[in-house]
Amino acid sequence: MADPVTPRPRLATRMAGAPESAIGSVLRLGDRTDAISLAGGLPASEALIAAEVAAAMSEVLAGAANGLQYGETNGLPELREWLGRRLLTERGIAADAGGITVTHGSQQAIDLVCKVLLDPGDVVVVDRPSYLGALQVFRLFQADLRQVPLAADPDLAALEEALRAGLRPRLLYLVPSFANPTGATLGDGQRRRLAGLAERFDFVVVEDDAYGDLWLDDGGAPGPAIASHTDRAIHLGSLSKVLSPGIRVGYLHAPATLRQPLRLVRQASDLGNSDLLQRAVLILLTRDGYLDDRLGSLRARYRHRRDALATALRQHLPDAEFTVPAGGFFLWAGFAPGVDAGDLLPSALAQGVSFVPGEHFYVSTPDRAMARLSFSGLPPERADTAARRLAGALAARPRPSAAVTVSR
Ligand code: PMP
Repeated sequence: MADPVTPRPRLATRMAGAPESAIGSVLRLGDRTDAISLAGGLPASEALIAAEVAAAMSEVLAGAANGLQYGETNGLPELREWLGRRLLTERGIAADAGGITVTHGSQQAIDLVCKVLLDPGDVVVVDRPSYLGALQVFRLFQADLRQVPLAADPDLAALEEALRAGLRPRLLYLVPSFANPTGATLGDGQRRRLAGLAERFDFVVVEDDAYGDLWLDDGGAPGPAIASHTDRAIHLGSLSKVLSPGIRVGYLHAPATLRQPLRLVRQASDLGNSDLLQRAVLILLTRDGYLDDRLGSLRARYRHRRDALATALRQHLPDAEFTVPAGGFFLWAGFAPGVDAGDLLPSALAQGVSFVPGEHFYVSTPDRAMARLSFSGLPPERADTAARRLAGALAARPRPSAAVTVSR
């Protein structure tokens, strides 16, 4: 309850465009202990690596460089070198350790890039639909957000037309591989074309590769990064999905011209990541075979989860429309023709299952039929119950669809 005698301090103008996070306000599952969340987008809890992290941290603490001192603002040099080598071998980026900043997740990387490059009112192009957490950052920087289909547009014709018509973005942000929320991946041609457009129309591509390692089918690795084709791209990555999100280790690779400004804003923000955690992470990453084994088991785990959910949806919601994603954490689905996913949510919550209505991933004119169903946190043996509950929600929904306002 607001205190009636204490006036609320006047908020900065940037807060006006930043509504409370939609996800928190729509996903109350009540007190049901058997509730199933398809909303969160969290790594499988069984895949978090408490014992490994504890052992690696103890090893660091027992050493001469015990990780308890301030470290370099841009990150532990040995970790940056390791990341640089991996960006070269896995993503084709001619990365060097000097271009890498270790960040608190890729989320902080988005924030730092905006601090360096955006003034209020600057145009930022994002994919349609787009990762909600990035939209939140751009809104806080008072960007003029323009949503253009990117992954869904094989020739990027809509973007090119807008650019030719005079659109002049400072930034273009996208998730090129196994995107949040759609699971879509840009093909090689699209990546090259985007790199070419960035050079021709003088904008910076922010390539958020949070899911790039999580292809789920054999031979499904995405093509070289956009940043391998142009130095107009900033490449963001994260160990949240590969190791654990609680270690908060992500990174960015920036072209030479942006390194000094990025160092400056990073210093002002928080002086850098935990030295202790970076050293612990490095121990794990450089242990022989550790990462390959881990990626192998994560891919198998998430493949199983994805397939279980897809099978259960087909069985219990025969009218649902979705494409099985080739990687990542999310299945982007329409439940049945004419059904508004936001309208369905209250019944779904009452049945004990949650999802994120697709409307939250749009800047304007949302596709209200779509929903983001996350399979990453769904034990396969619960997929059938989740789909049954969704079917129950569909059967129970008021008709004709009386609008129920649940968000914002
Ligand atoms: N980018 C995308 C596309 C994401 O889905 C997420 C996590 N939901 C993030 C960035 C942020 O992840 P982190 O900060 O943990 O790396």
